[in-house]
Amino acid sequence: MQTPSQILKKYFGYDQFRPNQLAIINAIVSGRDVLTLMPTGGGKSVCFQVPALLKNGLAVVVSPLIALMKDQVEALKINGIEAAYLNSSQDGNQQRLIENQARNGQLKLLYVSPEKMVSQTFLTFLRELEISLFAIDEAHCISSWGHDFRPEYQQLGVLKQYFPSIPVAAFTATADRLTRQDIITQLKLSDPALFITSFDRPNLSLRVLPGTKRLQQILKFAREKPNTSGIIYCNSRKQTESLSQKLTEAGFNAGFYHAGMDSAVRSRTQEAFVRDDLKIICATVAFGMGIDKSNVRWVVHYGMPKNLEGYYQEIGRAGRDGAPADTVLFYSFADVMNWRDMISENAPANLEFQLAKLDRMQQYADANSCRRRILLSYFSEEIGQNCGNCDVCSNPRQSFDGTVIAQKALSAAIRLREEVPMNTLIDVLRGSRNQTIVARGYDQIKTYGAGADLKYEEWRDYLWQLINMGVLEVAYEQRHALRRGALADAVLTRGQNIQLVRPEHAIKMNEVAVQTDRKEKSRTDVVRDELFEELRVLRKSVADKLNVPPYLIFSDATLSDLAQKRPTTPEQLLGVSGVGQRKLEQFGVPFLKIISDYTKKKGLPTPTNKIASRNLGESTQLVSFEMYKNGLSVGQIANQRSLTEYTVIGHLVAMFEAGADVNLNQFLAPSERAEIEAVIREIGIIDNRIKPIFDALDARYEYYKIKIVAALIR
Ligand code: ADP
Ligand code: ZN
Repeated sequence: MQTPSQILKKYFGYDQFRPNQLAIINAIVSGRDVLTLMPTGGGKSVCFQVPALLKNGLAVVVSPLIALMKDQVEALKINGIEAAYLNSSQDGNQQRLIENQARNGQLKLLYVSPEKMVSQTFLTFLRELEISLFAIDEAHCISSWGHDFRPEYQQLGVLKQYFPSIPVAAFTATADRLTRQDIITQLKLSDPALFITSFDRPNLSLRVLPGTKRLQQILKFAREKPNTSGIIYCNSRKQTESLSQKLTEAGFNAGFYHAGMDSAVRSRTQEAFVRDDLKIICATVAFGMGIDKSNVRWVVHYGMPKNLEGYYQEIGRAGRDGAPADTVLFYSFADVMNWRDMISENAPANLEFQLAKLDRMQQYADANSCRRRILLSYFSEEIGQNCGNCDVCSNPRQSFDGTVIAQKALSAAIRLREEVPMNTLIDVLRGSRNQTIVARGYDQIKTYGAGADLKYEEWRDYLWQLINMGVLEVAYEQRHALRRGALADAVLTRGQNIQLVRPEHAIKMNEVAVQTDRKEKSRTDVVRDELFEELRVLRKSVADKLNVPPYLIFSDATLSDLAQKRPTTPEQLLGVSGVGQRKLEQFGVPFLKIISDYTKKKGLPTPTNKIASRNLGESTQLVSFEMYKNGLSVGQIANQRSLTEYTVIGHLVAMFEAGADVNLNQFLAPSERAEIEAVIREIGIIDNRIKPIFDALDARYEYYKIKIVAALIR
C-alpha cells in the first residue's frame, strides 16, 4: 500500500504536505469524521482526494457550484485520477453512464450537487456501492446565517443515517463559531476531529494607497505586471464598465463583469478570464465565487469594501497557488461616507453592527501598524510578529510632534461652528480662494490660511489620524461635519501632546530602499523571467488544445519552479513541484524541449540528475527505464520485476514519449517498422486506438510494436 506522501508526489507532483493536510488525511483514512477550516488556497482538495486514492471504493464529494465541480474533475483527470460529476447540467443518459462507471468501480471520486446527494434515488443507488468517504465542500452553505446558504445542505444529515460508518469530512474557508457548530450538528458528525488552519496567506502582499489619481496608479501598476491575471474590484456596475474601457484604451486586455449583465455574456467573460484569454477583469463583488483559478497574480480594490470579511475574501482570490501575489486597496474618505450613507439609508435591522464593521474596515485602511496583524486579529488570530509583507512593514511610519497641527485643525473647525466637512476645512486651513469659501466669508476667519504649508493630501491624512485618535469627530448625521472629539479640550487647553505619522507619499524615498531589499529576499520564490514567459506561452497552447484552463496544466508556482530548476530529463522534471507521473507523461516532451533549447541558447548549466532520484520509487516506468539505462535487457528487467516483457517495453515507450533517451528501433526490424508505419500513415491513429491498425495489418504484429512505431512517428 502506498503512503500519503507517495500519493501526493505521484498524482499531484508535490513533495510536501501543507500545514494540517497530512493530519486531516490520516484522520479520514482512520475512519473519523472531520471538520476543517482552511483559508482559500490552503489546499483543501488534496485533503479528501488523497484519502480517496488510499482507500478502496468511491469517494463522494458534495460541491455547491457546477463550475467548480467541472474544474475539479478536469484537474483530477489531468492528474490521471478517475473522477466524474453528476449535476443538473447533464441529461438522464449522461447521468446513467456515470452511474454505471461508479457501479463498475471505474471511479475514485464522484462530485455531486447537494440536490442530487439528498435525493432518495441517489441515496439508494449509493447503498449498493462501496463508499470510501463523503466530503462536503463549502460546508458553511449549511448555515442559514451566512450569505451562501443552500437549503439542501441542511438535509445532508441523512448521510450519517444511511452510512453511519463512513467518514464524513466537511471543509470550509469561512466559519465563525456559530457556523462551525451548525455544521457539526446538522451533518450529525460524531466526535469529529477539528482542524483549524491559520487564515494567514503570507504570499499575499498587502498595500493601501490613497485614492487619488487611481487610474494613473492602476495603469502604472498593471504595466509593471505584464501578462498576468488580475482582478479590479469596483463598488458599482458603471465603474466596472468605464474602468475596463479606459484600460482597454490604454492597450490592456481588459473586460468587465457584474450581475446586471446578460448571463450568457457573464459566463463567457468568466470563462475567458479563467482561460487567460482575458487578463484583467473589472468586476463587482458578484465576481469570484466559483472560480478556482490559481494564477490570479493581483487583486486591486478600486474602492474600499464595506467590511473586512468581504475584503479578505476578495484579496484571497489572488495567489491560490502559493506563489507571491499582490493586493492594493485604494482608500478615500469619500468611500467611507458613501458606504455610511448607503448602509444608513437601507436602515437594516443590524445597522449598528454593519456600521461597526465599516469602522473596522476604515481602521485597517488607516492603520499605522502591520496590516496583516490587524487583519488576522479581526479573525481572532495573532501571528506574534510583524509580517514584513505589507506597506506599513516595508515602510515603517515616522511619527513627529503634531500638536500644532492638531490645534490649528481644531481651532479652524470651531471657528467654522463645527459645521463644515473635511474638504471645506482643509480649504480654509490652506487659504483656498475657491468660490464657496469666499461666498461664505470663510476667508475672514482667523485661522484662514494657517495651514498653507501643508498639501491638501497631507491635511486629509492628518485629519484622519486626528479623527481616529478622537481629537476630531465626524458628525455623520450632519453632512459629515467635523467637530470636537473627546480629546479636543485636552489639546486646546491642557497642553496634550499629539503624535502624528507622516503620510506615505512624504517618505517615498524610504519605500524604494526597503522594497529593493525585500525583492532580493523573495527572489527565490518568484521567477518571472524570459524562460517563464516561454513556458507560459506553451502552457496556454497545450491548454487550448485540451480545452482546459491553463492553470490546470501547470500552476504559476510550477512554471516558476521549472524556470529555476531548468530540468532537461524526465527524471529531473519529476523533481519539480507540481509535476506528477501523469503530467510528466502527457506534457513532458514539449516542456523539456523548450527548457533544453533555452538552456543551450543561453549556454546555461543543466542540473544533475540528483533531484529526481528520490522520486524513482514512485514511478514504475522510471524504475524500468533506470534499469534499462544500466544496461539490462528487456527480458532481464521483466524477470527481475516480475512483469511481462510487453509491460516493460510499454514503460520504455512512455519514457521515450516523455522525452527520455530510449532506442526503440532495437525492438523491431527495419522492415517491420516500414510496414507498420505505412499503415499508420494511411489510416491514422484516433484517440490512441491501436486496434484498427492491428486489424489492418491482419494481426501479424504485436500491439507493442505498433505502439513503438506510433511513438517514433510522433
Ligand atoms: P482550496 O480549495 O483550499 O482553496 P485548493 O485545494 O484549490 O485550495 O488548493 C490550492 C492550490 O494549492 C492548488 O493549486 C493546489 O494544487 C495547491 N496545493 C495543494 N496542496 C499542496 C501542497 N501540499 N504543495 C503544493 N501545492 C499544493
Ligand atoms: Zn506587515
